[in-house]
Amino acid sequence: SMEVARNYVNEVYEAVIARNPNESEFHQAVKEIFDSLVPVFAKEPKYMKHGVLERISEPERLITFRVPWVDDNGKVHVNRGFRVQFNSNIGPYKGGIRFHPSVNASIIKFLGFEQIFKNSLTGQPIGGGKGGSDFDPKGRSDNEIMRFTQSFMTELCKYIGPDVDVPAGDIGVGAREVGYMFGQYKKIRGGYEAGVLTGKGIGYGGSLARTEATGYGTVYFVEEMLKDQGLGFAGSTVIVSGSGNVSTYAIQKAQSFGAKVVACSDSNGYIYDKEGINLDTVKRIKEVERKRISEYVNEHPHAEYHEGCSGIWSIPCDIALPCATQNEIDELAAQILVDNGVRAVGEGANMPSTLKAIDIFLNNNILFGPAKAANAGGVAVSSLEMAQNSMRLSWTFEEVDAKLHEIMKNIYRNSVKAAENYGHPGNLVVGANIAGFIKVADAMIAQGVI
Ligand code: GLU
Repeated sequence: SMEVARNYVNEVYEAVIARNPNESEFHQAVKEIFDSLVPVFAKEPKYMKHGVLERISEPERLITFRVPWVDDNGKVHVNRGFRVQFNSNIGPYKGGIRFHPSVNASIIKFLGFEQIFKNSLTGQPIGGGKGGSDFDPKGRSDNEIMRFTQSFMTELCKYIGPDVDVPAGDIGVGAREVGYMFGQYKKIRGGYEAGVLTGKGIGYGGSLARTEATGYGTVYFVEEMLKDQGLGFAGSTVIVSGSGNVSTYAIQKAQSFGAKVVACSDSNGYIYDKEGINLDTVKRIKEVERKRISEYVNEHPHAEYHEGCSGIWSIPCDIALPCATQNEIDELAAQILVDNGVRAVGEGANMPSTLKAIDIFLNNNILFGPAKAANAGGVAVSSLEMAQNSMRLSWTFEEVDAKLHEIMKNIYRNSVKAAENYGHPGNLVVGANIAGFIKVADAMIAQGVI
C-alpha cells in the first residue's frame, strides 16, 4: 500500500541521513528521488524485498586522494581529488569531472547519485559515477592547469578504464582538461585506450556534436514539452543562466529555433541585452579570452551588466533555462519567475532548482523539465562517443545530432508515460525519476545482492 511504501522510504531516508551527516546537497538529491519512488514501491513490493533503495543510495565506492602540484612561482599546493563509483549494474561508471572550489564529498555524491538515474534514462548502457577536485582553475595559467590535471590523473588512472569507469568534463573541465587527462592516462598505461574518457578532441577519438550535446539536448527536451501544449521556442523570450559549455549551446539552439535569448551570466554577475544576446561575443569572451561576462557591455553598450547572479531570474521571460550550477533557483527566484509569467523551465545544470523551487513550479503548472531528463544529452552523446571508439569509426555531426534528438524525444516520452502510469500525470520530476530507477532496479534484482 501507499502507507507501507511511504514508511519504507522514510526509514531508508533517515538511515541515509544518519550515515552521511552534514551533506546537504547529497540529502537533497536523495530526498527528491526517494519521494518520487513511493508509488513504485506501493505498486511493486519486490523492490522493497530486494533492498534496492538501501543499496542504490550507498556508493559502490568513494575514492579520495591527494593532488599535489607546483604553481608558476614554484609554490607547492595540495588539493583533494574525488571519484565516486556509485552504481555499475547497467554499465561502466560514467560521469564528469568537476574542478571547482565548492567540490567536496557531498557535491560529488549528489552528482554521482543523480548520474545513475540520468544515465539510465538515456537508454544507453552506462552506470553512474562522478569525480572532481576542490581546485580553483580561475586565473590559473595553461601550464598550471596542465600540471594540476596531470597530477590528478596520475592517481585517478588506477581506478578507471574503458570498461570500468569513463570520466568526462563538467564545470571547470572542458576539451583542454580532457586532453591533458587523456595524455597522462595514455602515457601511464602505455596503450591507446580511446574509450577511457569522453569529450575528447575530434582529432583523437572525440565525437562530433559532443560539445554541443548538453545544451542542444536541453532545448530539444523543452521543445518537446512546449510542443505538447501547442507552444514552441519560436517568438519566445528566453533566459539562460551561465556562459559555459551548456549555456552556450542552449543559447545557440534556442536562437536557431527562433527564440530571443536576452540574458546569460557567469559566477560574478549577469548581462541583459533586450535586443538579444550576441553569442559570438559571449563565446569569444569566455572560450578564447577566458575573461568575465561583464566585458560584453564594452562591445554592446546598449546592454546592461549587473553584479550578482540571482537577479537574472527577475527579468521577465517565457522560458528559463538554468544552466549554471546547483541551487541557483531558490523559492524566491521561482516565485518571481512564476509571477512574471514564465511558461517553461528546463534544467541544463545539475540540480539548479531547490526542492521548494520545484514545488512552486509544479504547483503553478509551469512546464518543468528536471535536470536528469533535460540535461541528459551530454552524457548520452558521451555514450555514443564510447560506441564509436569501440568500433574505431566516427559518425558525422548530422548522424550524432539526429541520434541525440531521438534520445531526447524518448526521454521525454518515457518520463511522461512513467508519470501517468504511477499516478502523477504531467509531473516530469516523478516521471523521469521512476523511469530512470526501474531499469537500474530490475538489473540490481537480476544480478543478486552484491
Ligand atoms: N558532466 C555531464 C553530466 O553531468 C556529462 C557527463 C559525461 O559526459 O560523462 O551529465
